[in-house]
Amino acid sequence: MLGRAGPERAAVATPWSRCDTVVTVPSPRDLPEAALHPAAEAGQGAGEILLDSARIAERVRGLAAEIEQAYAGIARPLVLVCVLKGSVFFTADLARALAVPVVLDFIAVRSYSGTGSTGTVELVKDIGLPLQDRDVLLVEDIIDTGLTTSFLLDHIGHHRPRSLRLVALLDKQARRQREVHVDFTGFRIPDRFVVGYGLDVDERWRNLPDVRTLDGM
Ligand code: 5GP
Repeated sequence: MLGRAGPERAAVATPWSRCDTVVTVPSPRDLPEAALHPAAEAGQGAGEILLDSARIAERVRGLAAEIEQAYAGIARPLVLVCVLKGSVFFTADLARALAVPVVLDFIAVRSYSGTGSTGTVELVKDIGLPLQDRDVLLVEDIIDTGLTTSFLLDHIGHHRPRSLRLVALLDKQARRQREVHVDFTGFRIPDRFVVGYGLDVDERWRNLPDVRTLDGM
């Protein structure tokens, strides 16, 4: 976590959409290869849609509006730091929805194996742009225990940005181990393992346009 000496992290009132849909689906190990694809017929083992692509797109536009307000009049382009690989679709959509000038950078960590957290975070690819005195927005796909995001905020904080904020598309607060201040939240979701819109299981399902639940693993 960033201490008092860290960069300014302005508190922003963050309205969020509540998502109460809780569904149980068969284990993916019991499903045929393509069963989770949206083309699969409902009722034939497809993972239930938690957030469909239209709802995601609408919320991304809403987040962009909140972010634009927070960075109105920004002097230099906002640095969007995309956390590979899960945030890649979210970052691409968010960046294109934003009217403020942005530049993109990428960081990669390893913190998960299958559907269970390893509890450790390892830096796989560091940021390329100099972040000192820049306004930086960390773009996360999902916050679960909070360990990965805490690690990333700490790591980026060491680059001495002018400001550092966090946007997360999905927030699973039920499993939080480390407190994380999320400046902009897309959806709070129940404690279910989800795939799609960038999120994977062992690299599968990232390209699903919807966010779907995947229970039972
Ligand atoms: P945390 O460190 O907050 O526990 O986990 C962060 C990482 O775990 C995320 O960036 C993501 O890669 C993975 N993760 C956490 N929950 C889920 C989930 O429901 N689905 C998928 N596919 N990955 C998840």
